[in-house]
Amino acid sequence: EAGFEVFTFKTDLGVDNLDEWIYVAKDGKEFTVMLNITQLTDPVTHTTIGYMGIAEDISQRKKKEKKIKEYLNLIDKNIITSTTDLKGNITYVSQSFCDISGYSKEELLGKNHRMIKHSDMDEKVYNELWNTISQDKRWCGEIKNRKKEGGYYWVDATISPIYNEEKEKVGYTAIRQDITDKKMIELISITDGLTNIYNRRHFNDVFPNIIQTSKRSHELLCFLIMDIDHFKQYNDTYGHQMGDDTLIKVAKCIKDSLNRDDDTCFRLGGEEFGILFKSSNKENALNFANIVRENIENLHIEHTGNSASSYVTISMGLVCKKASDIEGDDIAYKQADDLLYKAKESGRNKVCINKG
Ligand code: GH3
Ligand code: MG
Ligand code: MG
Repeated sequence: EAGFEVFTFKTDLGVDNLDEWIYVAKDGKEFTVMLNITQLTDPVTHTTIGYMGIAEDISQRKKKEKKIKEYLNLIDKNIITSTTDLKGNITYVSQSFCDISGYSKEELLGKNHRMIKHSDMDEKVYNELWNTISQDKRWCGEIKNRKKEGGYYWVDATISPIYNEEKEKVGYTAIRQDITDKKMIELISITDGLTNIYNRRHFNDVFPNIIQTSKRSHELLCFLIMDIDHFKQYNDTYGHQMGDDTLIKVAKCIKDSLNRDDDTCFRLGGEEFGILFKSSNKENALNFANIVRENIENLHIEHTGNSASSYVTISMGLVCKKASDIEGDDIAYKQADDLLYKAKESGRNKVCINKG
């Protein structure tokens, strides 16, 4: 119900009068215009004698803007994305990022990206990431992040530098895909269901790889194969359920005995386990094997049918070589297995290591 002044009061006040209005065409259709209203002034008396309105039909532009907005909304809701400044301080996060991380936009903006880092992530990955993006290159990789309320999620991330109009680098943008389910399935497929340590499948993947990647290392690559002594008798005496419980305890003991981050243990089958580790020399490797062996005996799990001890014990075969001297994973396996057999032969609860 507004009068004509609605159009002219800004002009009369001497301020810019440029606004969006909705016009209604004769056929009732509405369209948006950008209307600019200026005064018409008598050049002699300097009094206002009228107004001139110039309206530009911007309905097409409005439509496009609406589309872009819808599109941005879609991205916001569905794509886990963020931008940071050059130091990694967060300057933008999408709603989807908030949903997966459990933080609100307010909690994330201005904070450093470090706050979502998971302690399981290898520092090497982050170093490589920063090295790559600070050289103006794009980095792609899998990252485990921490949720606000604990827990974690895995993303497949692509991180690229962003530039301002002067072509100066001003920050980084990251687009991520939630791969938590995929990672979970991957983990299940390489984990032994009973003991929760890595299974034989993972060993088969890892062993040839580690031989290859360690070829230039000065350290010795060590493969320790272990087999519980008289385990058939154990089952016969205490029952299969107790047998399973013992396998779980032995696996945990082996895992807890590991020292270094890249020491890895596996259930190779039945009552057989393996450890892959590195050592500067054979003596240290043998000491380590003996410590694991003693740790298992020191669990004091009663085993009356064991000829080597009154407790559950394990016999071991240890192959310890420069990776470049290992002919192949199957040959190394066979060698460790033969040494294990020797340890069994010579009384059990013992380690046999390769000569030379
Ligand atoms: P040795 O000292 O020579 O190794 O004798 P052993 O009895 O341990 O060796 P053998 O290979 O004859 O028997 C292995 C036994 O391990 C047979 C099987 O009953 C038991 N076993 C294998 N897998 C499992 C399992 O998942 N659970 C239980 N409870 N027992 C298992
Ligand atoms: Mg066996
Ligand atoms: Mg056995």
